[in-house]
Amino acid sequence: MNEIIGMDITELEGVMQLIGEPKYRAKQLFSWFHNKLIWDYNQMSNLSIGLRKKLVSSYEIAPIKMADKLVSSIDSTTKYLFELEDGNIIESVLMKYKHGNSVCISTQVGCRMGCKFCASTIDGLVRNLTVAEMLAQVYSIALDTKERVSNVVLMGSGEPLERLDITTKFIKLINMEEGQNIGTRHITVSTCGLVNSILELAQLKLQITLAISLHAACDDRRKQIMPIAKKYNIAQVLDACNVYTDITSRRVSFEYALIQNNNDSLEDAHALGRLLKGMLCHVNLIPVNTVNESRFICTTDEGIRKFYEVLKSYNIETTVRRTLGQDIDAACGQLRRRYLLEAKDRGEC
Ligand code: SAH
Repeated sequence: MNEIIGMDITELEGVMQLIGEPKYRAKQLFSWFHNKLIWDYNQMSNLSIGLRKKLVSSYEIAPIKMADKLVSSIDSTTKYLFELEDGNIIESVLMKYKHGNSVCISTQVGCRMGCKFCASTIDGLVRNLTVAEMLAQVYSIALDTKERVSNVVLMGSGEPLERLDITTKFIKLINMEEGQNIGTRHITVSTCGLVNSILELAQLKLQITLAISLHAACDDRRKQIMPIAKKYNIAQVLDACNVYTDITSRRVSFEYALIQNNNDSLEDAHALGRLLKGMLCHVNLIPVNTVNESRFICTTDEGIRKFYEVLKSYNIETTVRRTLGQDIDAACGQLRRRYLLEAKDRGEC
């Protein structure tokens, strides 16, 4: 239905040819969709009435609907729940920083990666999102805030490297000068470590930031919390990261969710330090967000500080992620899950 939104200018030129319209219309249409963020053909004032009619009848658009919006009272983090055309619910998060507005989007409805601490994966994968549905999350938030989105992170529900084709098409379109013109250096793609896709992504030589959800410094521990570790070991993941850096000259970012009495000991910190020492990388320590269905609790502030100090002693650039929007279930998949459970209680699904 919304496929036309996921088309680049060449593909739109193909559509124009198909419906007997001049080629230059494609650029105009692209600008309405991706720059002016207008998806209603009848508002596209520089298109002829005839063309608008053809588009309305053959290229229907069903915009995503905002189902809910929660603003944190602690910080200005805002969580959006969007309803897709088929009734599925996805979530996106807006984080306001001094350097601009950053939007974290979902790439799939649910997820099948099975990480034990993550709410998105509890009911498995429902389906992939389309390019249009990924773009619509960013555009809807830009329209809602009336502010430009300057950074996009693919760190919401889903595994963005499962469908590299969809993810790279999204990056291409969001980056287009004729559209939102969000620089690739302002785009982050987070993966649980799909080695083959990381290698494929490296070949595309995009200047995006690659974030790897590492969460453990040894394979045995990683396998306990992340099933993907049974397919690719840490050495393979790091090798792929080095290839990525060699080809793109980009620093890789490692996400490490600190879980009490699981992966947060000083030995774990030293093991991580030894593993990453000398790599062009950055470590982001994340106090794990407790998900109702899992037994994981977050490391104490003191424990986080000590872990951080150890990594610093290995000269590894490390930051501790601020836990934003704690009062609004801002961790991956939590809000969508609560919404669905409440709908179930109300007998809606
Ligand atoms: N599938 C991708 C992107 C989605 S998850 C990936 O694995 O990277 C985005 C990030 O949130 C990942 O680093 C993930 O491990 C982390 N995450 C998920 N649930 C979390 C939780 N309860 N607490 C802290 N981080 C969490």
